[in-house]
Amino acid sequence: TKGDDLLAGRLPAARISYDQPAAGQRVNGAIIALVRNSELDGLRKSMRMFEDRFNRRFKYPYVLLNDQNFTQEFRDGIAAITKNEVRYGILDSDLWGYSPSVTPEETTKKLEENKARYLYGGSLSYRFMCRFQSGLFFKHPLIRDLDWYWRLEPDVEYYCDLDYDPFVFMRDHGIKYGFTIAPREGRRTVETLWYHTREWIKNNTDLLPERSLVNWVMGTDGHYNLCHFWSNFEIVDLSLYRSAAYESYFQHLDDAQGFFYERWGDAPIHSIAATLLLEKGQIHWFEDIGYKHPGNMHCPRNPDMLSKCICDPAKSYTYRSACQTRFSKVNNMAKARMLEIIHN
Ligand code: GDP
Ligand code: MN
Repeated sequence: TKGDDLLAGRLPAARISYDQPAAGQRVNGAIIALVRNSELDGLRKSMRMFEDRFNRRFKYPYVLLNDQNFTQEFRDGIAAITKNEVRYGILDSDLWGYSPSVTPEETTKKLEENKARYLYGGSLSYRFMCRFQSGLFFKHPLIRDLDWYWRLEPDVEYYCDLDYDPFVFMRDHGIKYGFTIAPREGRRTVETLWYHTREWIKNNTDLLPERSLVNWVMGTDGHYNLCHFWSNFEIVDLSLYRSAAYESYFQHLDDAQGFFYERWGDAPIHSIAATLLLEKGQIHWFEDIGYKHPGNMHCPRNPDMLSKCICDPAKSYTYRSACQTRFSKVNNMAKARMLEIIHN
């Protein structure tokens, strides 16, 4: 009986029971986090909120990746947070390492030069991380067979109950890329990224669609305006990153040395690629998903959305963000028009 359970030091069974999602209403997807053993507390916090807001009901598996072996303490700490399946993966040197175009010696010099110029300017592991997240994570054996992913990081917060499956919503509406927050990147971290992007565009016009949302990232002056989707949250149809165009674009960037001699992030790279390869209707702002990663927060101001949330929309970064406003305003651009601008 209940009383005996309590006496035996056990908790009474949970009173909340959620309906199972209807059979078939699921995608072949997972929640993916790259994480260090030292970030156990931060990931437990993220997963606690993610489970409570969404995944306790929808039951997607987690894939946790690390360049080091996960400790038993880490696995125990995660197991205490979720009943859902957790798969652990290790990154070999083919996924976690230098671009073939750079040398460790020259990288050391550049890190020294850049360490005071921007956040993580002197960090080698941050470079490995950005390169992995940009072009390689979806090739990992635990991810290779998945069609969809939702990125999770340590120390993020989820504020709003989700009573539908964003993966299924995206699939049913032909959406391939979902985001919550769109800030502006620090110019110094991507000094030559747009130059190399333009070179790639000029030489690969056959890989580009007839129209795209590229003018969200490119002004009529032909420059990169530094807008990007903050990739610590992203829900993506992985066929985007596995496309011939994306593969070619990443290879071009990997050859251009900027992951190491600059500090190109996966967020601007994913964002440039998504807007270059997709149309407006294929990219979705999840305004209803209140979310915070250290630095910026999104909380919906629409009363119907806000009623399911525990956050303050007055503190939301997103309604003050120029890139976010631009996303609402901007429309698709024809390929011919883009090439005209790029060639100027
Ligand atoms: P920021 O969000 O740009 O400030 O960078 P983070 O430190 O949050 O790193 C982004 C993601 O990569 C987080 O999920 C980190 O846990 C993970 N990460 C960053 N560096 C490493 C690393 O060296 N090893 C592992 N295993 N994960 C890392
Ligand atoms: Mn982070």
